[in-house]
Amino acid sequence: MKPRVFIPEPIAECGMKLLQESCDCIAPWVDGQELSDAEQKEILYGSNAVIVRLFKISAEDLEKCPDLKVIGKHGVGVDNIDCQAATARGIPVVFTPTANSNAVAEHAIGLMMALARNIVPSSVALRDGRFADRNQFTGVELSEKTLGVVGLGRIGSRVAEIASAGLNMKVCGYDPYLNTESYEGPAEIVSTLNDLFGRVDFLTLHVALSPETEHLIDDERIAMLKPGCRIINTSRGAVVDESALIRALEEERIAGAAIDVFEEEPVPADHPLCAAPNLLLTPHISSSSHESMDRMANGSAQGVLDVLNGKTPEFVANPDVMK
Ligand code: NAD
Repeated sequence: MKPRVFIPEPIAECGMKLLQESCDCIAPWVDGQELSDAEQKEILYGSNAVIVRLFKISAEDLEKCPDLKVIGKHGVGVDNIDCQAATARGIPVVFTPTANSNAVAEHAIGLMMALARNIVPSSVALRDGRFADRNQFTGVELSEKTLGVVGLGRIGSRVAEIASAGLNMKVCGYDPYLNTESYEGPAEIVSTLNDLFGRVDFLTLHVALSPETEHLIDDERIAMLKPGCRIINTSRGAVVDESALIRALEEERIAGAAIDVFEEEPVPADHPLCAAPNLLLTPHISSSSHESMDRMANGSAQGVLDVLNGKTPEFVANPDVMK
């Protein structure tokens, strides 16, 4: 019997084709079916493998999955999966850590440029017939400004590279786990977050969500930023205390912010963030380039197939499980 693979959210066709060669794929979105959470969980509980994007898998779910052999994460942030519980049950979580780094980095840079030059509000004004409002949209240049990068991993390093070499920005980075002796990138490395906060014109976040990074940006830290600073978050919503960010924007303690990720997703239209001033919002699309969607679909499908076929997958988010 072919293994049963559940794919609750859309992935690129190349990944589906790869899986379909040897697996029974259950992908309700292919024919436009919209299943309830309970219906999706029922399919999960009867599957041998699952590939998720933002779909959550808890320890309780895993207890009900007697035949689950592998979880594939289409992406890099595995905080929607209880990896510890997966390890305890001997289930590898394969993921695609290199597939979307450039896409996310370019989106972060795009958000920074849009913020600096008021691209979105000026476009809205023009469409509303307010061409004459153009004088309200004078922005700032990026060249010679200072960008603070929190987390100098794959994405943060790429952002630092583009900002420094392409935009002539001065880049400062904070990453307590970086091997500073072997670091050869363009960022000036600072040893505490506080060192970074007082000097940056733009702050971009590229850390995984963990107990250590949850609400890393809160009222106290925002108070250390320059009043003209702009914050970009493409990491995970809960890295920023959203209420603190809204307060800072309303009180004009910072000049603006752009966020792609939220404490709770999806974000309802009546969420307080949607009414906050000088805030640019995108619906968790940083990694959504065609190129990266193909790489994530192929990479997660290949990782799942490797585990199902008894081979060692290239990237495992819970490596202890392989011991
Ligand atoms: P990575 O593991 O390569 O880099 C994360 C870096 O953060 C590491 O260098 C680590 O040392 C550093 N770090 C850990 N704790 C820190 C702390 N307290 N302060 C500062 N730095 C700290 O991961 P990556 O591929 O660069 O991805 C980063 C995150 O971006 C992911 O974990 C994910 O949550 C997010 N992401 C979002 C999207 C999106 O669509 N918006 C897509 C991909 C990734």
